[in-house]
Formats: sequence, structure tokens, C-alpha cells
Amino acid sequence: MMAYKSINFRNLPFGFCHFLLTILNSRRIEKCVTITYFFNKAPHTMPDPIERAADIIASAKRAVALTGAGISVASGIPPFRGKGGLWEKIDPMKVAHIDAFLDDPETVWNVLIKEMKTVLDKARPNPGHTGLADLERLGILGTVITQNVDGLHQKAGNSDVIEFHGSFAWQRCLDCNRRIETSRVDLAQIPPHCRCGGILRPDCVFFGEMIPPEALDRSQHMSATCEVMMVIGTSAMVQPAAGMPFIAKDNGAFIIEINPEPTPLTSRISNLPLLGGAESIMPRLLQAVRQRLASP
Ligand code: NAD
Ligand code: ZN
Repeated sequence: MMAYKSINFRNLPFGFCHFLLTILNSRRIEKCVTITYFFNKAPHTMPDPIERAADIIASAKRAVALTGAGISVASGIPPFRGKGGLWEKIDPMKVAHIDAFLDDPETVWNVLIKEMKTVLDKARPNPGHTGLADLERLGILGTVITQNVDGLHQKAGNSDVIEFHGSFAWQRCLDCNRRIETSRVDLAQIPPHCRCGGILRPDCVFFGEMIPPEALDRSQHMSATCEVMMVIGTSAMVQPAAGMPFIAKDNGAFIIEINPEPTPLTSRISNLPLLGGAESIMPRLLQAVRQRLASP
């Protein structure tokens, strides 16, 4: 028969509740536990995760952010994976793999790159990006390691941005390697050509290509030496970028994750997952950090 336990956790400290539940679970007691702690109002005992994150961030001097497509969703740029992601409509291996581009640049330009240009031309930084720029101005955040190619961290005001997957702001000639600004490329002919006659490609890392060694080395170094890593808007599915939080954690960093969905990092290494969109979490986090810096 099932033992029924009704436990009112309201008046117990949070850490003790957690300990008690661990013991109950570890003993595999057949139970139906009424955990009133979680459902009754107990503001004096339930720590707000944003307040906890603000405590950590306000006292940090070497914070690093790792960002992914999710931070730019509120700027109108769809992510690859997840709800509303591009991969719901197109097969990544057919359009975003370097072999696909080399086989048929015209199709990849028509299906992916032209569309990206239209979307990225209109995009402006959102409060997720500006929040990170504010953290740099406050002397807390040093480097942003971004998987994004949209340039929005620089537009928001961050001065040290590692573009792990390159930048869409530039195109490169397949033949002579000359670089040309995307805004100056003539799209009358697809695929567009360099003045030498070679085909132009975005200066981004396609699937199947190497990460630029300098970006990889520096990202690994910043990850290994930060005291806090903020992991924002990445599904943590693309390697080697997804390995950076593990490097940080292995070297003692505190991992704060901001994402509306859990990721493979959430249960494994995130110390503090903040569930929600970056554009709504960041302003609240900034306000809480500023309060702490203002009070002596
Ligand atoms: P992803 O597309 O694999 O995952 C997006 C993640 O963002 C998901 O975990 C999702 O839950 C989360 N998310 C959705 N809305 C969010 C919001 N409002 N705030 C915070 N998080 C939100 O992205 P990825 O991990 O960066 O990997 C995809 C690859 O595609 C990257 O390499 C990147 O270069 C490229 N990409 C870049 C852009 C861009 O430059 N903006 C856009 C799409 C894809
Ligand atoms: Zn050329």
C-alpha cells in the first residue's frame, strides 16, 4: 500500500527542504508527498533566481557571455532550432553545409543567403543585447563569445566580441579570397561574383567547416579563465561552441543560463537556469545588478 505523507515545507529553509526531499527520494519511500512549500506563498524563503543571479554578477569581475541565435529572436531573426526555427522549413544539410554551397551556390544563395540578408538588414539590437553592453560598461562583462553572425552585439556597444562562426557583414571570394562588405554586393546576379569572376560566399562558418583557429583559441582561453559564464539563447547543440560552458565549469566558473527552454546544459552544468526570453530577463537582471552596485 502506498504511504501518504503530507509535509508542510513552508516554515523550513529552502536548503533544508531540498535536503529532506533528497533523503526521501534516495530511500525510495513509496510516497505521495504534498509539497505545500512550493504552492503556498513563502516569499521569505523562496530565493528569486534573478536576485541570486544579480548577487553573483554584481560581485564578478571576469564575466564572459556565450550567446546563440536565441538572443536575436526578439530582433526578428529566427533561430535554427526550436519553435519557429528555420529548420522547420528547410533541411540544414541541403543549404547550410559547405558541400551544398560548393555543389550549387545559386540555390543556397536563393534559399538561405538572400533571405538572411533581408532579415539581418532590418534587425536592431534588443534589450538582451543592450543588457550585455551595459554589463560591459559597468566593468563586469569582458568578452562576448557569439555564435551569431548578425553583428548585433557590436551594434549594441560591446567592444570585445568573438565571432565564433564568422560574420554575415562580409562576403569572401572563393577564388581570390578578397573580402567585400555584404551591403556593397550587387545582387542583380545570383550567385554574386567578385571582380575577378569568382563566386562570393558569406564570411560565415558553414556546417562542415573549421572554426577560425584564432576565434577558437581565444574562446577557449576566455572560457577557462572567467569566473562567471552567462550562456544566453543557445541550444548548445553545435560543437565546438557548446563545449565552452564545460571548459568554464571545469575551471570553476559559475554558469548562469538564460533560455525559455531547457537545454542539454540545464541539468548537467548550469548553476542557475533563468527560464525566459533574453529580452525580458536581461532588463530585470540589470536593474537588480545596478541596485547592488548602488548600495554600499
Ligand atoms: P539554435 O537555433 O540551435 O537554438 C536557439 C536557442 O535559443 C534555443 O535553445 C531556444 O530555446 C533559444 N531561444 C529562443 N528564443 C529565445 C529568446 N527570446 N531568448 C533566449 N533564448 C531563446 O541556436 P544556436 O545554439 O546559436 O546554434 C545555431 C547556429 O546557427 C549558430 O551556430 C549560429 O551561428 C547560427 N544562427 C545564427 C543566427 C544569428 O546570427 N542571429 C540565427 C540563426 C542561426
Ligand atoms: Zn575574387
